[in-house]
Amino acid sequence: MRARTGFIAVAVLATVAALVVSCTPVATEPVERKMLLLGIDGLEWDVMGPMMESGRLPNFSRLIDEGAWGELRSLEFLESPMIWTSIATGKVPEKHGITGFTTKVGSRREGAILTANFREARTLWDILGENGRTVGVVMWLVTWPAEPVNGYLVSDYIKFDWKQAGREQEATTYPPELASEIMGMVVRADDVADERVAGFLTGDVPPGPPFDARVKALRNCISVDETSRAIGLRMARSRPTDLTAVYMSGIDGVCHHFWVDAFPGTGAPVSDRETELFGEVIERYYDDADRVLGEFLELADENTTVIVTSDHGHSGPKPRGDSYAIGIAMHDPTGFIVLWGKDIVGGRELDDPSVLDIAPTILTLYGLPVAEDMDGRVLTESLDAGFLSAHEVAAVATYEAVSPDGSDDGSEEPIESPVDDEIKERLRSLGYIE
Ligand SMILES: [Zn+2]
Repeated sequence: MRARTGFIAVAVLATVAALVVSCTPVATEPVERKMLLLGIDGLEWDVMGPMMESGRLPNFSRLIDEGAWGELRSLEFLESPMIWTSIATGKVPEKHGITGFTTKVGSRREGAILTANFREARTLWDILGENGRTVGVVMWLVTWPAEPVNGYLVSDYIKFDWKQAGREQEATTYPPELASEIMGMVVRADDVADERVAGFLTGDVPPGPPFDARVKALRNCISVDETSRAIGLRMARSRPTDLTAVYMSGIDGVCHHFWVDAFPGTGAPVSDRETELFGEVIERYYDDADRVLGEFLELADENTTVIVTSDHGHSGPKPRGDSYAIGIAMHDPTGFIVLWGKDIVGGRELDDPSVLDIAPTILTLYGLPVAEDMDGRVLTESLDAGFLSAHEVAAVATYEAVSPDGSDDGSEEPIESPVDDEIKERLRSLGYIE
């Protein structure tokens, strides 16, 4: 009996200690730093490598030459919302609660769309904000409804057509009034000029059938990226924050839609005319991403660290019986990462980096301890010796605020939005849901 009471007392004390740890901002030597975290969905080394060898992608090449890079190990299941949330939290999906695009209905993926309130773990922007750093987040997946941060947050839902749904934008930004300031920068597919589309094709934009649906898919990719790039660059210039995190989805989209044209024979057959017209879309899209990377790099001063990361790579349709599996089956478990700039070593290949290592590494770069309940490691091989000797890698039990009854504070009811139909249509067009 006595032993049991003692055990409970110890458990209670441990809980109280954990609460004190998790609720008190951590005292650390503040590190002066700006960071640019560029998330590019689906970057594939097998596409980038040959392009760089032939002298293309000068900005990516520069980061690799002068920074620390590697083929990035992703998670077991390759649904982007769960991986981007793992990048932001340093935790596996079982802990952070974002387990795909939608709640599952049996084995089918088409349930309710998973929204930010399902997230059960603190993000980098939460942790940095609570520890006095300012943050800016642009269109990161699963950030709607926009939650308060120490800076600004533009949720991924800003890109959808609320007007067509007959509604004003709701909870798409923090602070809420930011929405009206940047709404005019949202580019819709129909706004993308033919000239811009033609830049990705080998030939003119076909005016109608049979290729108009394929051109529409390309227009969609361009419009969403132009939205996140324009908002990301404008916010980074006009409202600089300690951490600026921008997510871009277009490369993943063009890989889904145009892989079979670039690599004929890897999926369902396409006509010679399609191979000719669309065969360079992917590479030209990488060229375009490199150009935009250059625009972001112009904002990096000597106090800036840049991280460019994907969530997974791409490897084309997978043979399945008489046909091919597309959608998530096209995602490859190996993506790409590069770290560059202040306190990063140059010309170094990383040792088996994982998407889970990004959050612990970023915390360390800000002089903040890494939480023991995170699932990755600090990519110490990317950090220069001077930084490491001045800032030891510290640990804290957790950054989560656990309430006394042990429950988390997130609600797990789906929040429907007026743009759910558009979201599901986009997920269907990529083969993510049925
Ligand atoms: Zn994808």
